[in-house]
Amino acid sequence: TNVSTDDETPIRWFRVNTIKTTPEKFFKDHPFFAKLEPVSSIDIKAPGFIYTDDYIPNLYGIHPKEKLTSTPAYLKGEVIIQDRASCFPAHILNDDPSDKHVEIIDSCAAPGNKTTHCASYLPRTEDSVVYAFERDSNRVKVLKTMCEKATGTKNKNLIQITHTDFTSTNPQDFPNVTGLVVDPSCSGSGIFGRAIEDAQLQEQEKEEIDTERLNRLAGFQFKIMKHALLFPKARKVVYSTCSIHPHENERVVVDLLMDKDIKASGWQLASRDVVISEWPKRGWKEEFTAICGGNEEECEALAGGCVRATPKEDGGIGFFAACFVKNDIKSRKPD
Ligand code: SAM
Repeated sequence: TNVSTDDETPIRWFRVNTIKTTPEKFFKDHPFFAKLEPVSSIDIKAPGFIYTDDYIPNLYGIHPKEKLTSTPAYLKGEVIIQDRASCFPAHILNDDPSDKHVEIIDSCAAPGNKTTHCASYLPRTEDSVVYAFERDSNRVKVLKTMCEKATGTKNKNLIQITHTDFTSTNPQDFPNVTGLVVDPSCSGSGIFGRAIEDAQLQEQEKEEIDTERLNRLAGFQFKIMKHALLFPKARKVVYSTCSIHPHENERVVVDLLMDKDIKASGWQLASRDVVISEWPKRGWKEEFTAICGGNEEECEALAGGCVRATPKEDGGIGFFAACFVKNDIKSRKPD
């Protein structure tokens, strides 16, 4: 695209793919990265510097003009370009030291950034697996290519891809799945710059908020999440979008928390301390009043189970994630 550099952030994020290497080995093997000078701000002024992220392990930022995609590390799949906020779901799903997730699901997987990130957290045992579902036939090909590149032949069983509609799966067929990532299609209103075609960007900037469209998307997002919450052994489900609109974010979460079947099965919103607690931007607390009325503290606690990233300001795309938990994980009751 011919998007100008004004539409970019001053940082480009990449993660070291720990399925294929370790950070120590990676920097030893690749002088291109080892020679970069560490900086402590995400506002990288010029090539030659590297930022190590405080929130996501093995995530780094460099200047967008750095020739990352022609490095041998990138070509070998040891580097995966992924926006920081888009790394939140896999990290939230796997960031509990007491978790022994060996079977997890990525319900809406293509192109596979979160799938490969989830896989990087799994213990390398025979039965460790990410089941990845994608319903679009073209996108499933991209997903396969990305997963093959990220896992290599040695770990080829770590990700199992199925070309199907996730809502058509039978949860009872996955009795050992303990966690799910649900990252469904959304309005994409948090995306800008390189990640979006010029025409689309202009269209989006002109666009008034189309409430009808957002509500339609929210209906689909609710449906797919409700299905995810049916898996018999699931204890943690992370919902995410790259939308900035509350319709697709907090409002979907509130509808899920108020659904009588979901309530009855014991799902709640996680407490802040298990959802990247140090990240300052949380859900919008005023959106939770349908549940907690005027109780400020309770609204704030519910909002704490969600994280938000503001486009550009937070060094990348706009993003939202919420973490649902069941039973023993620290949780926030909706009432
Ligand atoms: N998680 C991906 C990543 O991080 O690389 C991005 C996912 S994208 C926002 C949403 C994807 O979900 C699209 O590829 C879309 O085709 C797929 N999708 C939408 N509805 C689905 C469904 N019911 N079952 C499976 N895949 C679905």
